[in-house]
Amino acid sequence: MPGESASRRERLTALRAEIKRVIDYRSFYLHYCPNAHLSGGRLQTLCPIPAHAHSGTGHPSLSVDLTRGLFHCFSRDEGGDAIRFYELMHEVKFSRAVLELARELGASHCVAAGGDAVAEIRSITAGGAQTTIETVGNELVLAQAFAATRRGGTTVTAGLPHPSKMLSVPAVSLVAEERTIKGSYMGSAVPSRDIPRYVALYRAGLLPVDRLLTHRLRLDEINAGFDRLARGEGVRQVVLFD
Ligand SMILES: [Zn+2]
Repeated sequence: MPGESASRRERLTALRAEIKRVIDYRSFYLHYCPNAHLSGGRLQTLCPIPAHAHSGTGHPSLSVDLTRGLFHCFSRDEGGDAIRFYELMHEVKFSRAVLELARELGASHCVAAGGDAVAEIRSITAGGAQTTIETVGNELVLAQAFAATRRGGTTVTAGLPHPSKMLSVPAVSLVAEERTIKGSYMGSAVPSRDIPRYVALYRAGLLPVDRLLTHRLRLDEINAGFDRLARGEGVRQVVLFD
């Protein structure tokens, strides 16, 4: 019915506006620069980056484009995106910065995939996790997630590996250890029911998704976004359609 589709379109437009509203670099940079001056989509302040050790002339040396999430320090002629800013603020490398970000957002333990990850997880969880969730779409990480799941446990995958990639597991483990492997597309969400719940959780400060956002892209920048993803240099990237 035409009336129905119009109201659906309205709801989608409202939803898109809501999503744009909650994804905001302001809170990320203001967290580190609480006394910054905001005007015209820019944030200006004394640069807080410790390694820059600014002399304290009182002039704002840091400028942030809040639409793109990019910062520039004029004293040192150094700039970058939100993750680079995080690295400089905490004096850590990207992979480490992501783990620290996870810890700040409530993770109790952080283990990087690969290497001894399985042994480490089995040790932290005294024999394997009851539930493991693989979200990056890498079959090797999924295999590690399966190996790190305990007897009777469930391994969930929400990533999208390349269609040519195969997963091999000990066949007997499914029965002998009563193991479950299951897929979850988009978190098995019902968007009309769940997205308003996520927005409410965000507003209550319980789901700080803005802290995971590292890049905003225009549609014509999508290839650069995928390249960044392949290099493992983005956490969450969002395409804006206007
Ligand atoms: Zn600086």
